[in-house]
Amino acid sequence: MIDIHCHILPGVDDGSADMKESLNMSRKAVEAGITHIFATPHHLNEKFVNVKSDIIDRAARLNESLHQNNIPLTIHLGQEVRIHQDIFTSLEKEEILTLDDKGTYLLLELPSGRVPTYTLEVIYELQLKGITPIIVHPERNKELFENHKLLFELVQEGALTQLTSGSIIGNFGKNIQSFSKKIIEHNLAHFIATDAHNIGSRGFTLQQAYETITKVHGIERTFHFKENAEQLIKGKRLFIERPVPFKKKILGIF
Ligand code: FE
Repeated sequence: MIDIHCHILPGVDDGSADMKESLNMSRKAVEAGITHIFATPHHLNEKFVNVKSDIIDRAARLNESLHQNNIPLTIHLGQEVRIHQDIFTSLEKEEILTLDDKGTYLLLELPSGRVPTYTLEVIYELQLKGITPIIVHPERNKELFENHKLLFELVQEGALTQLTSGSIIGNFGKNIQSFSKKIIEHNLAHFIATDAHNIGSRGFTLQQAYETITKVHGIERTFHFKENAEQLIKGKRLFIERPVPFKKKILGIF
C-alpha cells in the first residue's frame, strides 16, 4: 500500500524524533503492509518551517538507512503546507515541495478551527500554476464540520482531499468518523493516508481504514482510493468522481 501523508522524517517536526524512531516507524509501516511512504513534514504551520532542499536531503538519508537496515520501504518526497498568505512567496523561493517533486500535487493543510477567506483563491491560483492541492484531513476541520457545503465548494473549485485513516476507524471520535463517512458518500474524498506521527496513538492504520471502507461503502471504493495513490506515484491521471452536493437540512435531517 501507498501512504501519501506521514511525519516519518527524523527530527523535523512533531513526528519522528530521531533516526531510530524513523526506522522503528518504518518497520511498523512495513508490517502494516505499506511499501511506499511520502514523507510530508509540516511547513509554515506557525511552529515548523521545513523547506524543500532540507526535505530532499533528509529523505535521501532516510532512504539510505532503510537500505542499510534491509527495510523494504521507499520514502518519497512531500511536504504538508499550511495554507498561508506567504505560500506563493515560498513557492517562488523554491521552498515548497510537491509530491515526488513533480510539480503536480501539493498537500495543503487548513488551520484546524477554520477555513481562511482566501482558501478558494489559493486553490485557484495553485491550479493556474499546474498544482492541484490535496486538502489534508478536511474531516478534522471545525468549520467544514459545521458547514459541509463549504467542503463541496472547495472540491468543486478543483481541490482534492485526503482523509486520515484514524478518522475512518473512529480514533478521533464519533463525530469525525461520521463526517468522514459523509465525505466519502458525497464523492468528496480522493485519498486515504495515515498522517502517522509515531508508532503509538498516531500510527499506521491504513489497512484497518480500508477494511472499514469496504464494510461501509463496498470494496469498489477501497480499490478506488488505492488506485488513486498508485496513479499518483506513476504520474498518471487520477479517477475523480463528480462531487455530490449536500442536501439542504429538512426537519433537522440531512
Ligand atoms: Fe500531517
